[in-house]
Amino acid sequence: MTQTRPDGPNFTSVTDEKVEKPDFEWRAELTPEQYHVLREKGTEPAWTGTLLDMHDPGLFRCAGCGAELFRSDDKFDSGSGWPSFTRAAAEGIVNEHQDRSHGMVRTEITCARCGGHLGHVFPDGPNPTGLRYCVNSLSLEFEPEKSSSGGTSA
Ligand code: FE
Repeated sequence: MTQTRPDGPNFTSVTDEKVEKPDFEWRAELTPEQYHVLREKGTEPAWTGTLLDMHDPGLFRCAGCGAELFRSDDKFDSGSGWPSFTRAAAEGIVNEHQDRSHGMVRTEITCARCGGHLGHVFPDGPNPTGLRYCVNSLSLEFEPEKSSSGGTSA
């Protein structure tokens, strides 16, 4: 089922069903690098991510479960070395948690559907939200916008 939103590309709806799997399944499905970031809260080295310079129209899905997490319209060059977005694709699709690791107080972001670690959100982003969702490329899979389904682009 395809849902058209007035302010962006077309999005395939996702079920609200939570994705829970035993650890061995995640290990089998994900690459070791994806597993380390998504399931062990790892961080890819800055400037190494394959989606850092991806600016084509489309959406960024969770590499763990396929949930639609971010949209190309909200992506910006933050200079941080990680893909950065001003907001999530939908309310409630990204969860926030206080993270006191590494001697810092940060806000971790995870996929609300599968619990996969995405990165962190910082209050130093550009308009309109003032937020910077700093996300590992390894947590995401890019899906180019389908141009034939009648949606209008901003
Ligand atoms: Fe997910």
